[in-house]
Amino acid sequence: MKRAAASFLILVLLLGCAACSGNFNGKDASVSPSPAADIPTAAPDATRFAETPAPTETAADAPTAEPTPEETPAPEPTPAATPTAVPGSSETVYWDPSWQYAENSKINTGAAVLYHSDADEPKYFTVCVNAGHGTRGGTSVKTLCHPDGTPKVTGGSTAEGSIYATAVSSGTVMLNGKSEAAATLSLAMILKELLLSSGFDVLMIRESSDVQLDNVARTVMANNAADCHVALHYDSSDNDKGLFVCNVAQVASYLEMEPVKSHHLEHEALAACVLAGARSCGIRIYGNGSFQFDLTQTSYSTVPSVNIEVGDRASDISYSGQYAVAKALLKGILNYYNTYVAGNGETDEGSAEAFAGRISRPFGCDIITAAFGPGSPAERALHYKRRNTA
Ligand SMILES: [Zn+2]
Repeated sequence: MKRAAASFLILVLLLGCAACSGNFNGKDASVSPSPAADIPTAAPDATRFAETPAPTETAADAPTAEPTPEETPAPEPTPAATPTAVPGSSETVYWDPSWQYAENSKINTGAAVLYHSDADEPKYFTVCVNAGHGTRGGTSVKTLCHPDGTPKVTGGSTAEGSIYATAVSSGTVMLNGKSEAAATLSLAMILKELLLSSGFDVLMIRESSDVQLDNVARTVMANNAADCHVALHYDSSDNDKGLFVCNVAQVASYLEMEPVKSHHLEHEALAACVLAGARSCGIRIYGNGSFQFDLTQTSYSTVPSVNIEVGDRASDISYSGQYAVAKALLKGILNYYNTYVAGNGETDEGSAEAFAGRISRPFGCDIITAAFGPGSPAERALHYKRRNTA
């Protein structure tokens, strides 16, 4: 309890800093006024008190008594001020078998790395960057398509009606001979740097050619150590058709299945924001940019989650080509953050309602707010922060 109270206190303090630095929309900046009042004004005051000679009046009133310098409770030694959140630091995130759906993962001896931004205005919001593929042995293991064991409702690399899917498929091969796994990795590394410099914390699922985390494990890890999940892929066509996002299959039974039921609106919102970002950055878009899928990723996601096919085998995967894509993805994630997390409801792409018009199923800001919990933008950010450091 004590510890919880203390860390809440720290969060409030942190929040104060964030609010001062203008991170949040001014409108709701009136952050949790009550708890702040209880904060014993930290160290400097305490030292000054110690130096103060006997408090005059009280001493006079109580001649016999020990000169009680009305014992301010020793300022609680700030409990290792959330060491995980040191700007610029990183930490390894290991598999936790007690996580929800953990039992459905078959390959999970690998670890991810959580990087904390050292930007001037940290967002306290963690983006999971999942470079698609790159798990040795992943093709010879099967995992349940759905947590409840029901069959897949759309086709794809795993056929409709399947109960099991390949734990991690090998992916395609780019026209220049590079593996898709290598291409998604180099893109992920660029995106990581852009996100960190923009104030996002980043959970990197894979930073080398192999990580022993299957698709279920990657998703469960994102659920528990990130605030949204972005998976990167190149499609197997070879006509340079452009980028598209995989939206949640609008199939009644799928939308009724948990955790899809509780989270698909978040997935759709993130997908719409990413797509809008790509458009505004001039990235070539395939078709209307959004197609419906029943993917392992969204079937297990409890944080906003989107699989992005950033291009195909013919895409430009030079550094400059991938940098352009990474910038567009950053724009999309910023769209999402600004609209639904910082909560100003507006980005330079338009309002949340405008996003809604671009996706298959309408949603309103109220629904999204409900999905993220009540409170001001600052309180919502606090919620994310708390989860990150719990
Ligand atoms: Zn792929």
